Parts: sequence; C-alpha cells; structure tokens
Amino acid sequence: MSLNLCPACNGALKPKYKLKFDIFKCRECGLYISDASFDHSFVSDMDNDMRAVGLEKLRITNFKFIADKIKQVFGTGIKNVKGLEIGCGNGWWLKTCREEGINCSGIEPERAFSPIYEANEYDVAYGFYPATKSDTQYDFIIMNDVFEHIPDVDSLTASLNADLKDGGYLIINIPMSDGFFSVTARLLNKLGVKSILNRMWQFDFHSPHYTYFNAANLNLLVSKHGFVKVNDFRLNTLDLGSTKERIVTDKKFNKLSADIMAGVLTLAMPVINAAKPDAKVFFFKKVATNNNAAGNRE
Ligand SMILES: [Zn+2]
Repeated sequence: MSLNLCPACNGALKPKYKLKFDIFKCRECGLYISDASFDHSFVSDMDNDMRAVGLEKLRITNFKFIADKIKQVFGTGIKNVKGLEIGCGNGWWLKTCREEGINCSGIEPERAFSPIYEANEYDVAYGFYPATKSDTQYDFIIMNDVFEHIPDVDSLTASLNADLKDGGYLIINIPMSDGFFSVTARLLNKLGVKSILNRMWQFDFHSPHYTYFNAANLNLLVSKHGFVKVNDFRLNTLDLGSTKERIVTDKKFNKLSADIMAGVLTLAMPVINAAKPDAKVFFFKKVATNNNAAGNRE
C-alpha cells in the first residue's frame, strides 16, 4: 500500500507516531495507517490459550447479536442465504452461524485451526482472500476483526464488491480509532508510554494492524466501491469477568499488573461506556458493481 495517499479519501498522509512500525495519519479524514509488515517467521507475543479464555464469551455474545441482525435483514429468505467469512480463526463465527441456522463458509490462511474445522465439518478454504476464493457470489460477506489486518483495503473492498450479489451485504466488525481505548493509548503515547499504543496495533503479534478507521472514513472508503451503509451498531469490547485473562494474553504483562489493570478498568467502566465505542459492526449494502476495481485513485 502506498503511504503517500489515503485509501479512503486520497488525502495526504503525514507521519504521526514512531513505534515498532511507523503510523501515519490522513490530514483530511483522520484515517491511521501503519507501515507494518507481516513476518511469517516471527514468534509473536500472543498466547493463544489465554486468548481463547479471555475472548470467547465476549465474542460469542457479539456474534449472536450480529447473527440476529442478519436474520432480521434476510427475514424468511435466510434459509437460502449463502455467507462467507474471511478469516475464520478459531471458528466461533461459523459455530454461531450453525447454531442460528445461517449458512456460512470461510477462508482462513492459518492451518493451525484446521483440527477445529475438520472436527465440526466447517466448510473452510485455506489461503489469503481474494487469491483463494470460489466463483460463488454471496448474499453476505463478513469480516470479524480482520479488515484492519489487511494491507491494501482499497483493492480488498473492490474484490468484496465483485464477490457479493447485487443487494448483498458487506459486514465489517472492526475496532474504532475514536473509541475510549484508542484515544487513551494515543494520549499515553504522548506522555511517553508507548507500549499501550504498540499493543493496540498488535505490532508484536503475528498479524499486526495496518489501519485504524472511524465510522466516517470507513464509510468513505467503502462507498467509493459501490456500497451504501444501512446500519451500524456498538459492540462490547470488555467483559470484566475475563478482562484479566485478556491482559495476560500479552506475555509482557504479569498477573499482578493484570490484576491492577483489571481493577482500574472496573472503576473506569462508566467513562468507557459514555465514550465512543471501541468496536462497531457495520452493515453495507452493495448498490452498484464496481467495475474499475481499486480505480478511483488518479
Ligand atoms: Zn483520508
């Protein structure tokens, strides 16, 4: 991805933060972009077992909410709907779909999850989207915490348009750059504490973030490619019962500091709830075929 022009609005990008990788900010729309690279050989700080404990309850709750919205959108037609999830990870979305009677297949680059898919007979193809895909056109395509991990969001969104039926839905579940934790992380970085912002961008993890959107600049990008936003919803990002496990996910934090942080977060909950959401799910509807792919950039 070129780090001269913003993929959402074509505005100029200016260097903003120096962490493990550099972060740039669009002067026009405020999109944040990193020059992170995906290192296949690199051993990350992520502890997969702890991650599973800390996140499952929270994510399943959010997934049930999204599944309900999908059922509302398609009504009685839900039986004939074909969905695709890009980046299925541990299969929690596919599991939710099965429980909710929604037909959804997946694409996933990591072979590590294959025992889960095989045990549950989930229909998952291995590889990176869009190189790996079938000729099917889908009624919906969903990305759960995946959009921000893909470097070239402009050509990604063009491919998504091509792989959806007319009137199909692009569903993006994504962390927000103007949520409480993002704003706090940038503030702490200004005060000299770089570790939290580095953690938010997952620069020490296997698959870092390339972008941090807000609702407005995500809409700018996606509407350029023949989509119109029909709805968006706040998602919960904090389940206090498992906050400590989530913090311990990062090997740099020990149990005591995780206890202290979990306590601070409990006290801060009213403030967090009053702030802008840290994660949202967006429903965009395909209204036009985007013939010129990633082409709106002169
Ligand atoms: Zn921009």
